[in-house]
This record gives sequence, C-alpha cells and structure tokens, in this order.
Amino acid sequence: LNPDAIPSVVKVMEDDKATWGSQVFATDARGQLPPLTSTDFTVEDQGNCSPRFIRCTTYSLPSTPELAQLSHLPLAAIIKPLASLPASEAPPPVVDHGEFGPVRCTGCRAFMCPSMQFIEVGQRFRCPFCMALSDVPWQYYRHTDSTGKRVDQRSLQELCRGSYEFLTNEDPDKLSSAPAFIFMIDVSYNAVRSGLLRLLCEELRTLIHLLPREKGADLSQVKVGFVTYDKALHFYNVSSSLTQPHMLVVTDISDVELPLLDGFLVLVNESRALIESLLDQIPVLFADTQERDAIFGPVVQSGITALKAFECPGKLFVFHTSVPAADRNLKIRTNPGTNSTKREKSLFQPQGGVCQSLVGDCIAQGCSVDLFLFPDTQYMDVATLGSISYLTGGNLHLYSNFKRETDAQQFLMDLRRGVTRDMGFKGEMKIYVNKGLKVAGFWGSSWERCPGQIALAGIDCDKTIAVEFKHDGRLCEEAGVLIQCALLYTSVSGQRRVRVHNLSLTCASQLADTFRNSQAEVLLNFFSKTAYNALLESPAKAVRDGLVTRIIRILACYRRHCAKSLVSAGQLVMPQFLKILPVYLNCLRKSEVLLPGAEISVDERAYLRQLVMSLDVEESGVFFYPHIIPLLDWKAEADPLPTPIRCSGLRLQDTGVYLAEDGLTLILWLGVSTPAEWIQNVFDVPSFDAVASGVFALPVLDNPASNRVREAIRRLRSRRLHFLKVLIVKQGDELEKQFRQFLVEDKSPNGGASYSDFLYHVHVSVQQLLK
Ligand SMILES: [Zn+2]
Repeated sequence: LNPDAIPSVVKVMEDDKATWGSQVFATDARGQLPPLTSTDFTVEDQGNCSPRFIRCTTYSLPSTPELAQLSHLPLAAIIKPLASLPASEAPPPVVDHGEFGPVRCTGCRAFMCPSMQFIEVGQRFRCPFCMALSDVPWQYYRHTDSTGKRVDQRSLQELCRGSYEFLTNEDPDKLSSAPAFIFMIDVSYNAVRSGLLRLLCEELRTLIHLLPREKGADLSQVKVGFVTYDKALHFYNVSSSLTQPHMLVVTDISDVELPLLDGFLVLVNESRALIESLLDQIPVLFADTQERDAIFGPVVQSGITALKAFECPGKLFVFHTSVPAADRNLKIRTNPGTNSTKREKSLFQPQGGVCQSLVGDCIAQGCSVDLFLFPDTQYMDVATLGSISYLTGGNLHLYSNFKRETDAQQFLMDLRRGVTRDMGFKGEMKIYVNKGLKVAGFWGSSWERCPGQIALAGIDCDKTIAVEFKHDGRLCEEAGVLIQCALLYTSVSGQRRVRVHNLSLTCASQLADTFRNSQAEVLLNFFSKTAYNALLESPAKAVRDGLVTRIIRILACYRRHCAKSLVSAGQLVMPQFLKILPVYLNCLRKSEVLLPGAEISVDERAYLRQLVMSLDVEESGVFFYPHIIPLLDWKAEADPLPTPIRCSGLRLQDTGVYLAEDGLTLILWLGVSTPAEWIQNVFDVPSFDAVASGVFALPVLDNPASNRVREAIRRLRSRRLHFLKVLIVKQGDELEKQFRQFLVEDKSPNGGASYSDFLYHVHVSVQQLLK
C-alpha cells in the first residue's frame, strides 16, 4: 500500500480544524457530531451538555438490537463529569430549590431536565426515560403556555441547559462536613537519601496555601493533617493552641488506633505557623535514619480511621519509596515467561487481600488515595499498590529511579495539580437512558456498586469513565435517545450536590447513519479501556487478536451494508471520522501494555494500564498516536504551531528538529544535520556532537530560535494533564529507542506491524469474510 494514500490521522484533524475554525459549537440540536478534541472551539450550552463532559462513540444509534449487533460497533459514552472548561465557557450553574430540593421523576428518579414534558397545564410531567407521570410539587408549579412549555422555561437552568448542578436537600444532620487532605510521608532511608523528603516538605509549605476552595470563597475549607512513617506511624498534633508541633508514635500497626483527635486535622489559616514549623522539622528529624523498611497497608488504614473519626470525606496523599514491609509477602513478578500464557493476567491483578479490604472502607468514607511511588529497586508491585488509587478514584504516579535533578520538576507539577485541581468526594454516579437501552458496563477509576451505578470515593476534573450501552428493545426514531448522567458528590466546601449532564442522540434504521456519525477517537478511547481491562482476565495475545477480529467485522459490515454501490471491489472508502479507526486500533494493539518490548518493566506496564483506564478522549488520542511537530517550520511565534507530521520515520528529515509528545513525555529530536547555527542558538554549544542528550532544561537564551522552542514546549504542556518532561534525543544515539516508540505508523521495535502492513492484512481479511 502506498503510505501517502492511506488515511491519515493528521489530515483528518486538519480537515476538522478547517471546518470548525474557532467557531462556536451550539448544543441545540439532537445528535449533533461535535468537533474533534484536537480542534479549538467554543461550546455554548443550549440544552445538551458540552462534548467536554460527554462524547459518544456514535451520535446516531442503530434503532434495533439486530442492527446494533450487525454493525459490531460498541455503543458507548465517555464521560468526564467534572471536566475543566476554558475561561470562555461558563461552568454549569448551581440551582438551589431550598428545602424541597431538585424535582425528580417518581418512577425512575431521573432529574428534571429539558426533555421532561409538562402536561395538564403544568400540573404533571412525563419522564422521557421511564415514561412515568409525576405530579409537579406545588412549590415548583408554573402553568404552561399554548405550546405546552412552562412560562418560566427560559429562566430555569434545568429546563434550558444540558448541564447544571442541584444543591441537595439531604437531612442537615447528615450533611457531610468539608473534606480533609492527609499527607502521609515515607521517611525511611530511600526517601531521605534521594532528597525526596526535603523536596516534598519544602513544596508542601507552598501547597498548603493553594488548597481548593469554593468559587468566590476567600479561604479553603479543606482541613489538613500530617503523618510520617517507616516501620511505625508518626502522627502530628498541629493544633493552634500549641506552641510547637507534637509527635505521637504508633508502633503497634496490627490495628491502628488514632493516638490523637484534637489538632490532627486543622485549617491552614488557623495553624499556619505550626504546620510550617513541622514541615521544616520533618527532614531534620529523619536526616540520619537507617530504617529501610516502610509499611503501606496500615498507613492507608490509619488515614481512613482519621477521616472516620472526624466524620468527613477526604483524600490521602501517600508518598512511598519501597516494596511494602510487614504487610505481607509480595511475590516478585516479571514479564519473561509469562507473556501470552494463562499466567500473564496475574501480572495485572492485585496480590493478597489487603488493598481490597481497604477499598471497601475508602468507599464508605469517601476517601480517595493519590499514590506517588518512587521505586529505587526493580520492582514495587504497582499492580497491587495502584489498585487502591484506581478503585477509589485517586491518581497513581510512578517515578522509577527518582533523581532530584531530573525528576523533581515533574513530581512537583504532578503534586501541585493533584492538590489544587477541582475535585469532589464521596461520589455516586448513575446513568439514566430511555427504554430500549440499558447500561451494560462501566470502565474507569471507580467501583461498581450495582448495575447502572458506580461509587467514586473521589472524583477530580481529569477523571473519565466509559459507559457502554446495549439494546434491550427497539428504539423510537421519533423520540431519539436521551442520556442523563447524575453525579452526587460532596464539593470542596462540604456541600452535597448533584451534577446533571443531559445529551440527546438520534437513532436510525440505516446503519450508514451510525457509521457516518461515529468518531474514531472516541472508539479508540473505549477500545483502549475495554482492552486494558480485559488483561485482568485474558493473555495479551488474546486481547490483541480480539481487536483485529473486531475491526475486520466492523469494516466488513460497512462494506456489505453501507458501501455496496459506492466503490469498486477491493476498495474501501470509510466515512470521514471512521477511516482512521484501523490505524488507531493498530496503535492500541501494539502499545507496550499489550505487546511489551524488552525495555518495559512489569511495574511500568501495570502503571500505564491503569493510567489509560482514566484518560479522556483527547489524552488517549495523543497517547496512542503521538503528535510530532516539525519545529523548524515554525516561523513566527504569533502563528499556531506547525501541523504535525505523520508518525513515521519516512517523514523525518536529517536537517530537521521535531517536538514529539504522547501526553506523558516530550521528546526534542535533533536530526544529524540540524543547522549548527540553530544548535548554537538553542543549546549554546557549537555543534550537533556537543549537544548532550537526556533530560535537562534548555538554557534560556535571548534569540528567536531559543524563544520559539521554549514557547512551543510551554504551549504543548499547557494542553496536557500530566507534566511533560523534556527528553533531548539525537538522531542515532541510545535514547532514540524511546523516540522510535512514537513512530507508530512504522513497524515497532517490539515487533508490532506497520500501519500499511496492518491495513493490508485487514483488507484481505475483510474480502475473505465477504466471500
Ligand atoms: Zn422516569
């Protein structure tokens, strides 16, 4: 196959940018296909939620179960309920109906939304999800006009917008108090020696002043507490009534009891001086430690116990540097010998029951766990430790061989985002859909409580959950499909709220409509979550083969049912947004989690697997198909960054310089014949040979080339959720292996097929299937 003729991800993105420019995407129409995530656009909520909150694999569902099965396309929504919005878009308004609270359908409990239909002059309303009739509470009554619309429709947010929040009217006695953050710091030998402890304590001095607060509030309501640990636990009393912080040591870790209540969780503005003094003292206190062991399970348990004692939800920030001691014997697990065997799945499953039993307590208390792991040895059992952050809606960060000089910036930025971003606690998410559809499953950082409902001990603005739908009947084309996502959660000030997102889709009896209204980047996100989840049950090879079978069936269905008369035999023309699905699925198939090379460790695989399960559509898109930007083409800083090239070595020039990123790492790649003048201007050294490769900050030099590189890095970083560490790679050097991983259209270093070979194989298989 001619590499120039096969569908290009870059081209599809550029075409979408050209179509939408910087236009406004108004959400008034049902089943409207939004711009791609790579396009800059503004959303105006006119009755459906923004695509920043929910994106669907298709915006026109097959109307019958038979058609859905025939298409082999999954029907799913990728939901990011607390997504951050750009400054130009207003956040969902908060609606307070006082004591009687939000109005809900008496049949299925769905929340009041623009699709509820008022009848009998406004005395009752019909629910589009279950079709039940409910009485309008007298406090909420308004009469309807001649068209059946309430006269106050335009002034009620829940009747004219797709997204809004209700304050709940939960029993005031049960009102949860404001959340707390507990910082749990490993002070064993590894943490001290690597410089981590000092770095962390210095940073926390700043971060305690940046705790999240309610919009418009002067002060944060979030309380903080501090625990340090090695083989024992050390709690700190930082009550404002003391003159010095006070340490209490717990050595019996079999059943941790809290040694203090007063003064453990405090408000920063009340205990500021003591907290600062404590953070100054901790590195000094443990500077000469020889203790090499650090426990883990009891640390998390003590955090949960503390939140329970204070009757509040919260978040534990755990900084851990070694294989947990004393908890249990974790077996060391390795890649070789297990690949493609039945035992391979055990690499991703948590060992022992310790974390599992903690998760139950975390969910009950609304306690999520953010884990920062700094293994200095080969192995730390990330699959086991990480499961606790995954199931509680927390975040997992892995810094293998942490070195202060090269890794500090990334760690500090990750931590800062973890502490300051928008988040909610003690969440429950429920999905309502109309008759004919049901929720078939959830994928993402959460805990499935019962069919159709998940618990999120914590949820932040970056967390994304995939929901799959299945038919359980026929859909009505006239009524279309309606999805309501309701997230009940505690806000950072302790308010119980329900965030509601509504999205209406069309349905069709022609599969061509479903195909035309599908977006490959959303499908990639869904397939990546389900495939990575399947690793818990099946060997990677079976998962990879399953993806190939799926794409072949999808394309064969399209060819047979939608494109018969359009093209000659042997040719396959896919709809605009779907034609890049094969390249995306090939990238997923040969990603290192599913097809490990020699370089990747078991821990890194487990980390990446868990990470991808929480990514949103934009992040998974760039993770599997990196952006490679030809930097020398950028002539003026006022312009947008140059169009990326396709991810293939064929597109690179020896005289070129490229900035490549996958959402986690940013590589600055220099061709051997990069102009010496440019090198001098950017690196302040005379030649290509004199440039050092590796991780370091570029020198700040005042010339256009230097300014441009640093500005490009700044712009790329500003789009990403994870801090992008910059790796300098020279053509032909040892580090180039990492850059090769980004060239996903080529045959991979780990043996994954090139895009054109894969596409050829898929086409041949489709032809055979159609015979
Ligand atoms: Zn209902």
